[in-house]
Amino acid sequence: LSTADLIEEHRICVCVRKRPLNKKELTIRDLDVITIPSKDVVMVHEPKQKVDLTRYLENQTFRFDYAFDDSTTNEMVYRFTARPLVETIFERGMATCFAYGQTGSGKTHTMGGDFSGKNQDCSKGIYALAARDVFVMLKKPCYRKLELQVYATFFEIYSGKVFDLLNGKAKLRVLEDGKQQVQVVGLHERDVKCTEDVLKLIEVGNSCRTSGQTSANAHSSRSHAVFQIILRRKGKMHGKFSLIDLAGNERGADTSSADRQTRLEGAEINKSLLALKIATISPGMTSCENTLNTLRYANRVKEL
Ligand code: ADP
Ligand code: MG
Repeated sequence: LSTADLIEEHRICVCVRKRPLNKKELTIRDLDVITIPSKDVVMVHEPKQKVDLTRYLENQTFRFDYAFDDSTTNEMVYRFTARPLVETIFERGMATCFAYGQTGSGKTHTMGGDFSGKNQDCSKGIYALAARDVFVMLKKPCYRKLELQVYATFFEIYSGKVFDLLNGKAKLRVLEDGKQQVQVVGLHERDVKCTEDVLKLIEVGNSCRTSGQTSANAHSSRSHAVFQIILRRKGKMHGKFSLIDLAGNERGADTSSADRQTRLEGAEINKSLLALKIATISPGMTSCENTLNTLRYANRVKEL
């Protein structure tokens, strides 16, 4: 099926989440240039100046399946995005949920949970919420009789290479079979029996991801993290849910001052981001350029 067919059949859903202004933005008195006037509209009010120096706001409107304002909780975002896909994998489907956006706009907060403070809490992220509902669904009589087993994988894609976050960052080979199915060879699938098992794996994977990195955010802005929940029946794949915290989408745009390595990484990331649209945005005026890029990009899927 083409992307247009998938949209027509409502099999791709594009949502945008705005986060609140953070401390740093409040300190520099950054302006909030984003409004969400209704549950599917995002407006950007870009400050501009005429030649005679009078200032004005240029308003641009974007429409999505859902637009979440800065008071929305992870649970709410989850309910309208990943939640329906949990059903999909029980019905033998493959589902994917991407977080796409500028570094600092809230991708990891949305997908993985809160890792900003000392008390890291991954129980409120979409990975954990999806896992929770997988175990709820398993108890339903119609699914219990299938005797499904649940497994989780967690890996990172950095500069075109794949690393297993549940096996000490072991580098893995990726093969594409004749049917264009991509296989990550030797990826550890951990069996999980309850939500707590999954929370432990997310913590292990996250600390593995950031270990040896001077700045966790600088590293995660250049790598994709993929968390998967896999249902198996008698060993055979029944359904698979991939939840992906993508690299920051700002790379490539601001590469003028970047070194060669960074530029190459930017090109690699842009290549791998090209097929995807989902999005989180920062509200600040200082992020206006990046925000507009994200919205235009996420919006492009609607024009196909
Ligand atoms: P990204 O993964 O896109 O680079 P993060 O998820 O790390 O961004 O978010 C950057 C910072 O903003 C973090 O400190 C995070 O806790 C905070 N943050 C992000 N989204 C929200 C939100 N919706 N509400 C409150 N804080 C948020
Ligand atoms: Mg992140």
